[in-house]
Amino acid sequence: MTDAERRAALEAIAAEVRDCTRCRLHVGRTRSVPGEGNPSTEVVFVGEGPGFNEDRQGRPFVGRAGDLLVKLLGSIGWRREDVFITNIVKCRPPDNRDPEPDEIAACAPYLVRQLEILDPAMVVTLGRYSMGRFMPGARISQAHGTVRPADPATGARDALVFAMYHPAAALRTPAIERDSYADAATIPAVLLDARARRADHASTAAQEPTEDAVETAPIDETTTVVAAPPPDPATAIADTDQMTLF
Ligand code: URA
Ligand code: SF4
Repeated sequence: MTDAERRAALEAIAAEVRDCTRCRLHVGRTRSVPGEGNPSTEVVFVGEGPGFNEDRQGRPFVGRAGDLLVKLLGSIGWRREDVFITNIVKCRPPDNRDPEPDEIAACAPYLVRQLEILDPAMVVTLGRYSMGRFMPGARISQAHGTVRPADPATGARDALVFAMYHPAAALRTPAIERDSYADAATIPAVLLDARARRADHASTAAQEPTEDAVETAPIDETTTVVAAPPPDPATAIADTDQMTLF
């Protein structure tokens, strides 16, 4: 797919989401929030659902949680325009309540299709509900800062999933904020791993006699990322260079 084709395909999904009435969340919304970002990015961030400000503006992570997300990205030299940012449910739950299982299920096909189009190397989940779709059964207190291969059924056909706390939780609890910065610091290294894995799969596929014979990675393979060493200002620039998105 070319960039222009990806952009058009994402815009077609966004148009469907804007008019969607597939679950009860459409009743109370001001605007639905399809998600936004760079259509040729390697990294997709998936939050929970729009809050007050997102519902008003129709854009993801534009309130206080969004400010923190932008700071977390900034801590590794990334900008929000470099990645794609979306949510598990595209409409705001009333009074910011948690999304319900049937609402998550109703909205899931949009995220699957977005991921199929974006084909990211890395999916970063923000919070429990997002993690729940990519790391079923995991507990966030243990799973934050860890990676596992994405199940292709999520739409991400060859990606590593990296779990983080929700930025709103980090805003409430200083210890979670510290953990979030530490987790963010490992994102570039996970991206390098994810790229290497994809390159490896591509070369394996090239050696296979037929496409049908290509095996997908076992979905229960679990990899824990070792925490990155404390940043050394002298090497930080060089490290950032090779992990730059664009
Ligand atoms: N919280 C989320 O999970 N998503 C947003 O878009 C904003 C806040
Ligand atoms: Fe449609 Fe998703 Fe909004 Fe429900 S939350 S109305 S499924 S876009």
